[in-house]
Amino acid sequence: MSEYTGSPTEAHEHAIADATDGKRFGHWIDGEHIAGEGIETIDPAVREPITTVPRGDAADIDRAVETAREALTGDWGELGPRDRGDRLTEWVERLRAHQDELTLLETLDVGKPIRNAGYEVGKAFDYIEYYADLIRNEEDAHLSFVEDGHAYTRTEPYGVAGLIVPWNYPLVLTAWKVGPALAAGNTVVLKPAEISPLTATRIAQLSADIFPDGVVNVVHGYGGEAGAALTSHADVDKLAFTGNTSTGSAVMEAAAEHITPVSLELGGKSPFIIFPDADIDDAADVAATGIFYNTGQSCDAFSRTLVHESIYEEFLDAFTAQAEGYATGDPLQSDTVMGPLASQAQYEKVTDYLDIGREEARLVRGGTGDGWYVEPTIFADVSTDDRLAQEEIFGPVASVIPFASYEEAIAIANDSKYGLVAGIATDDLSLAHRASADLAAGTVWVNQYGGQEPGTPFGGFKQSGIGRECGKETLDAYRQQQTVNIALDDPEL
Ligand code: NDP
Repeated sequence: MSEYTGSPTEAHEHAIADATDGKRFGHWIDGEHIAGEGIETIDPAVREPITTVPRGDAADIDRAVETAREALTGDWGELGPRDRGDRLTEWVERLRAHQDELTLLETLDVGKPIRNAGYEVGKAFDYIEYYADLIRNEEDAHLSFVEDGHAYTRTEPYGVAGLIVPWNYPLVLTAWKVGPALAAGNTVVLKPAEISPLTATRIAQLSADIFPDGVVNVVHGYGGEAGAALTSHADVDKLAFTGNTSTGSAVMEAAAEHITPVSLELGGKSPFIIFPDADIDDAADVAATGIFYNTGQSCDAFSRTLVHESIYEEFLDAFTAQAEGYATGDPLQSDTVMGPLASQAQYEKVTDYLDIGREEARLVRGGTGDGWYVEPTIFADVSTDDRLAQEEIFGPVASVIPFASYEEAIAIANDSKYGLVAGIATDDLSLAHRASADLAAGTVWVNQYGGQEPGTPFGGFKQSGIGRECGKETLDAYRQQQTVNIALDDPEL
């Protein structure tokens, strides 16, 4: 990939031209580009427009759902699991040939450092490939024997799957849904977040001639318009949503009208507990990655750092030193590790929390913002009742909370409406197992942050969601079982 030099304004101007020249970013419905206007997508690093996408409405959603329904009964419906797996693999191979292009688009669209965007785009392909392999190799005979009969189960896709993703990991979270939905035999209507529409459009365009027209559809638009039209649509058979918890609640309410099954991946306020035996420098490294990666805009960010009182000040020094390594920079440059926040709204939200934090706690580092950039920030002496400890900030803002005993650490960690992820730093294996079992979280990471692989289920306890993504069980979120019971008559011989 070319390096972009010159001032940030010049570098981004060139990069935007490279990323968008000759490309169109309309809706993708029935294998066709549908042009339109209405939403300007902004490069957060320089706060300049990249391009525009159409502001889709209920009529666009109707059209996409209708075409997706028709596609279910066409060639796509005739394909068996192996053929669907092969098509998915072919798609991934084509996407891999466009990895640099997709990486650049993701960087420009949401301000991700290009090194992270490259990694995440590659990971997104791995997730789709996992479901290609899974469906191709699935053993689909589920036999059970009953007295006087023979019973078996078979699976059917739900049908038309409506998929809604947020802007913080646009391509990865799209892959988490599109991979299993298509592997299971559904057709899809995808609504990307309005501030990150670009890679979704391109991967749909790059599916042309691999999947029949109408199997993959993308409709742009605002959540309250196109998104709401999709979630309340009578002819959508399955909904999968990632976003914040209050929107998830609205999605569930809309889905209730037609009893549409819904999977929800929602917010988090994940604790990282540092026990007194932990290696302090290693724990500080993990804590920093956990809150500063992706400028803290991660549902699973370690946004609460719980530290045993015996190592509290020593840890704060080590954590502060680690934070120095997350200086903000131009996401286009290959050595940048932390870019801007993805939008003005997000910048304003995070800087409001910096003010709240100054009132509630002790500012150890950072606390300032400029442009849409916010310095890596550490607040210490946070109490579990503080807004800093309870609300999802979604920015590079760490809240450090002291604890005195194991019981207190677990009580603080579980004192949240969320339960997405938790982390533990310890060298004591027994303690790690014990604490994992005591933590109300869908995933526990021990001595690490991240470690999410295609085969490991991911999702939340409590208000962090319903269901899991990744892993083989997720296929079942996109299909339903049918049981067939056949009476076996006594032979008349
Ligand atoms: P939002 O809930 O605001 O938006 C998510 C998506 O939903 C967007 O595409 C949005 O469209 C759309 N949307 C908004 N309102 C509606 C509606 N009424 N009906 C249907 N769709 C709607 O979340 P954010 O974009 O702010 O994303 C950040 C959130 O996502 C955080 O809370 C984060 O924790 C969570 N998240 C959870 C993950 C998990 O796996 N648990 C992973 C990643 C993020 P538009 O943006 O165009 O308005």
